[in-house]
Amino acid sequence: MSDAAGVTVFLDRDGTLNREKHHLSDPDDLELIPGAAKGLRALMLYGCRLVVVTNQSPIGRGIFDEARLHEIHGRLAAMLSRDEGVTIDGWYWCPHLPDAGCRCRKPEIGMFLQARDELGVDLKRSWMVGDKLIDTQAGCLAGARTVLVATGYGKEQHELPERTEWVDFFVPSMLEAAELIVEQQGLP
Ligand SMILES: [Mg+2]
Ligand SMILES: [Zn+2]
Repeated sequence: MSDAAGVTVFLDRDGTLNREKHHLSDPDDLELIPGAAKGLRALMLYGCRLVVVTNQSPIGRGIFDEARLHEIHGRLAAMLSRDEGVTIDGWYWCPHLPDAGCRCRKPEIGMFLQARDELGVDLKRSWMVGDKLIDTQAGCLAGARTVLVATGYGKEQHELPERTEWVDFFVPSMLEAAELIVEQQGLP
């Protein structure tokens, strides 16, 4: 049994897998971050499950609807599959406004709990990779180990003092995050 058996890697979407575009609403605007698909492939081959957890307040703002979000996720899934044969095992999103007081918007951990219940994720054996401290904070609170990537908002987020509390590892991009996770899982 591989050391990665039962390991789930939670993934932020914008700024982590695809380039950050403010309120991305058109599948044609999706652009993979270089190396991201390759990193996901390495995790997949290692036996990790991959679950996307994304805050999508534009839905709550009425900028686009869930049908459009499905189109965007369908396109992203196709790009990841085409580039590196990657399959995402679960897609979770929070459609609410930041001040709605919901339980799913990161740094809340509702999406992680949903994945635990629906996919049988062992949160203590999971990782969270994202470009904002709300990503890694949510991961920490859910029981995951956390990686902040320097892509998207990551570089400026790493300047914030709270990073000492919420970030286990800081790496240049998703590719190095994947390498790090594989390496850490191999440690005794
Ligand atoms: Mg992000
Ligand atoms: Zn929500």
